[in-house]
Amino acid sequence: MKPIAEVVSCLDGYDPNALHVDKAREAIRACLVPVADDERVATRAALGRVLAEDVVPSFDVPAHDNSAMDGYAVRAADLAAQTETRLEEVGSAFAGRPFKGKVGAGECVRVMTGAVMPAGTDTVVIQEVVRIEGDSIVVPPGQRRGQNTRAAGEDLKAGVPVLKIGHALGPSELGLIASLGLAEVRVRRRLRVAFFSTGDELASVGAPLADGQVYDSNRYTLYGMLSRLGVEIRDLGVVRDDPALLEAAFASAAANADAIVTSGGVSVGEADFTRQMMARLGEVLFWRIAMRPGRPMAFGRIGNAFLFGLPGNPVAVMVTFYQFVRDALLHLSGRSGDCSVPLFGVKSSHAIRKVPGRTEYQRGVLFREGAEWRVRTTGQQGSGVLRSMSEANCFIVLEHERGKVEAGETVQVQLFDGLA
Ligand code: AMP
Ligand code: MG
Repeated sequence: MKPIAEVVSCLDGYDPNALHVDKAREAIRACLVPVADDERVATRAALGRVLAEDVVPSFDVPAHDNSAMDGYAVRAADLAAQTETRLEEVGSAFAGRPFKGKVGAGECVRVMTGAVMPAGTDTVVIQEVVRIEGDSIVVPPGQRRGQNTRAAGEDLKAGVPVLKIGHALGPSELGLIASLGLAEVRVRRRLRVAFFSTGDELASVGAPLADGQVYDSNRYTLYGMLSRLGVEIRDLGVVRDDPALLEAAFASAAANADAIVTSGGVSVGEADFTRQMMARLGEVLFWRIAMRPGRPMAFGRIGNAFLFGLPGNPVAVMVTFYQFVRDALLHLSGRSGDCSVPLFGVKSSHAIRKVPGRTEYQRGVLFREGAEWRVRTTGQQGSGVLRSMSEANCFIVLEHERGKVEAGETVQVQLFDGLA
């Protein structure tokens, strides 16, 4: 693997002391090497995993032309264009129980949704428009050839890959794989991620809180965010701001993980001593990113593990995780293409203060005003106010160059939740 410093020095406009968020993303992406190992798992166990093989149907789905409605399978050639047509009903076909014979001129077959189209027929007339007269039916004019039928292979075609290597498997993919009758599928092994918090002021949940201490909440938010990504996690607890303890924690994390995520210890006051220790263990860059919240961040490699050293402030941890770490971990997991959370424009209901020269991730609430969606901030935006993340349902992303936002102006938002 190329040294990280060499990779990032090739990027235009790379400035570690005032790094544009897009450059930080680009620098991270340029260095990442996804996991390559794979394993076969049962189809249901593949939910949330990444394909390590193309999925290629060996037969068409559906395998036969079939009816899309309840009605009568007919031969379009029999139907008069301008007048009613009388046809003789010669049998029926249900889903899973095909009609065995062949349908001749002037004949039709009663069909249910999903029934294989009887030989000779090409069109389905829905039952609601048909008049029944004894063993015959009367079809009104105005039917279209092929209507209300589903063609063989309209969902999946034999030999044409339906899912490619690097595709993340969600509910629809499990269904597709099952529709091909596959009980197992080959996926990349799960990414292993170790994480810990640093800080002398941190108390662990369950322990009493001494004077000046705060409970370590970051390990809980990180646990939640990492769990949702479907990675294998290893919680290394709280590590004091002690060079020997930190060095041991990083070395242990690197020995067993593909990525390490830490919080705290990267701000100007603390970075110096972490920096020296990191220089011994691996290659780590310390960045000041032009963003708010979450200015300081470390990125690098210790052994074979990629390190994401996030700031300590609880909101900054979440913002830097979602803006940089999430996409990076998905990419490391083997996902192809762009995994970033989409941005879309919504009108801001209020003015928002902002100065050009940094990207801001304000916590927002999308709400309905009549028929339209609007967004407002949650109010207090301090990077220690974790409550703002919980009150919000989106980030309001205010771009680097942007200044003050007037009420009614469009801003970009990123939803926290959606269909997964
Ligand atoms: P640092 O980046 O280590 O200077 O920490 C910045 C701020 O975040 C300080 O107020 C810390 O007390 C707070 N902080 C750091 N780590 C945690 C944590 N794990 N849980 C909650 N707050 C933290
Ligand atoms: Mg600290």
